[in-house]
Amino acid sequence: MTTILLIEDDHRIRESIARALAEEGYAVKTEREGMEGLKAAVEEETDLVVLDLGLPDMDGRQVIKLIRAVSEVPVIVATARDDQEEIVRLLDLGADDYVVKPYNAKHLEARIRAVLRRIGGEESAVVTVGGLVIDQDAHEARLDGRLLDLAAKEFDMLAYLATNVGKMISKREILAQVWRLPYGGADKTVDVHLSWLRRKLGETAAEPRYIHTRRGVGVKLVDPTT
Ligand code: CA
Repeated sequence: MTTILLIEDDHRIRESIARALAEEGYAVKTEREGMEGLKAAVEEETDLVVLDLGLPDMDGRQVIKLIRAVSEVPVIVATARDDQEEIVRLLDLGADDYVVKPYNAKHLEARIRAVLRRIGGEESAVVTVGGLVIDQDAHEARLDGRLLDLAAKEFDMLAYLATNVGKMISKREILAQVWRLPYGGADKTVDVHLSWLRRKLGETAAEPRYIHTRRGVGVKLVDPTT
């Protein structure tokens, strides 16, 4: 469940927004002051912060700066002023997005989804399966910290299997997804690359760890550490 921290000193706004977000399926924590909000923002379970800029004890800009000093948790600021220069300053301080007050819960929720999608998309470039770490942006894979020397198709195949971890994938699907080839008797290509990949992962078909094949069905990548 996604946990939203709402830092807002106005009782009515806080209650109504918290209720609306809870109805949308979010876990919601609320705080009324900057210092308490800051503490809650850096807690592990907080996935996103909605921060009112006008707080009784601290300036909201200061709260953003302090959050950013220790955390990358996404922050959406709620500003009373629709002032472009002010908004640019807030984004420069590290806010991820903003809503202008008065805002409604539906609008805020759309901004929350957009920010989480953006953040989530960045994170998904790195896939971890047990001791395997596959970085799709860098086109690098490591096993137990050691960089693997993989050919392009070996990497692509590993990355595809890793994003479908635990799922049996047919050779036809691998040919289509990795080689962009329709099925046509070229499944030996997959077998050959699988055997090379296996060797580079230090395992064999007889004693598989990460790569498990089933004759006539396909192949799957599993986490041998679980
Ligand atoms: Ca306020």
